[in-house]
Amino acid sequence: MNPVLLAATPLNPLYLAALEGRYTVIGPMSHEMLAVHADRECIEVIAAGGESKVPPAMMDALPALKLISVMGVGYDGVDVPHAISRSAMVTHTPNVLNDDVADLALALMLNITRRLPQADAFVRQGLWAKGSMPLATKLSGLRLGIVGMGRIGQAIATRALAFGMPIAYTARSNKPDLPYTFFASVKELASQVDVLTLITPGGASTHHMVNAEVLQALGPTGYLINVARGSVVDEVALVHALSTHVIAGAGLDVFEHEPYPHAQLLALDNVILTPHVGSATDSTRQAMADLAALNIERYFANEPVETPVPECSNRK
Ligand code: NAP
Repeated sequence: MNPVLLAATPLNPLYLAALEGRYTVIGPMSHEMLAVHADRECIEVIAAGGESKVPPAMMDALPALKLISVMGVGYDGVDVPHAISRSAMVTHTPNVLNDDVADLALALMLNITRRLPQADAFVRQGLWAKGSMPLATKLSGLRLGIVGMGRIGQAIATRALAFGMPIAYTARSNKPDLPYTFFASVKELASQVDVLTLITPGGASTHHMVNAEVLQALGPTGYLINVARGSVVDEVALVHALSTHVIAGAGLDVFEHEPYPHAQLLALDNVILTPHVGSATDSTRQAMADLAALNIERYFANEPVETPVPECSNRK
C-alpha cells in the first residue's frame, strides 16, 4: 500500500503529479475532519506550498508526523519550532528559483521606471498617432539597495551590475566577501539609494520592516520593489506614500493579504502589481516540484533529505 501524505493546502499540479503513483495524497481538510480521518495516525508527511499555513494544530493531529516538505523557498507559514519540538523535519526548495525571482525583480524595476504598462496601453488605445508619450525614468545607473543579500538577493545584484547600477544592501550580517556596500539598517540603506528591492524571508523578524519612516527615507524619486513577502511592508503606509508622492513608485509581486492587494493600490498609476509570480515559469515550477518530491522520497528511503530548512540542517 502507498504511504498516505496530507496536503496542507491545494498543491501545485506539478507537485501532485510528482507524487502520483507512489503515494496517496489526501486533503487539504479542516482540523475537525483531520481529527477523525481514518488514516490520521499513519501519516508521516505533510506536503505544502510556499504560502501554505502549517500550524501546530495540523501537526498535532498527526502523531506519526516526521516531515513537512514545502514546495517553495519561503516557509514562513510553517511553525518550524513546533515541527522541531515534534521531531519533524522541514524541507524547502532553495536555489532552483533564484533566476526567476531575480528576473522578475528586474522586470518590475524596468516596468515601473519605463512605464511599460502605460506604454502598451498608449499604443493599444491609438494615442500614439496623436502625440508622444510623456518621458520616463532611466533605470541604468540608478543606485540599487537590496534588503536581503542571500541566494536571490545576490542573483538580483548580478543582473543589476549589467545595468550599471551601484549596489548596496542590508541583511542580518555584513558579507565582506561581496563587492557591495553594507548598511546596518533598512532606513539608512533607503536614504542612500534610488531603488529599494526587498528579498528577505517573511515572518516576525521582518514584519513591517519597510514602514512610513523607511519610505520617507527612500524619498520622492525613489522606487520600492517587493518580491519578498507582503508582510515585510506596511501596506497602508505604502498606499499613503504612493498616493502622496512620498516615493515615486513601486513594483509589487507580494501583498499583505493575498490574493487581495489593498484596494487603493488598484487605482494608483505609479505602481505595478503582479500576482505572486516570482517563480511562476514552467521549468522552475517543475524543478521545485521535483525537489519537493525528492525530499519525500529520501525520507521514505531512510536517506538524508536533500534541502532541509536552515533550522533543521544539523538534524538527520
Ligand atoms: P536566503 O538565501 O535565506 O536569503 C535571505 C536573506 O534575507 C539573507 O541575506 C538574510 O540575511 C536576510 N534576512 C533574513 N532575515 C532578516 C532580517 N530580519 N533582517 C534583515 N535581513 C534578513 O533566501 P532566498 O532564497 O534568497 O529567498 C529569500 C526570500 O524570498 C524567501 O524567504 C521568500 O520570502 C522570498 N521569495 C519570494 C518569491 C516570490 O514568488 N515573490 C519566490 C521565492 C522567494 P543573512 O544573509 O545575514 O542571514
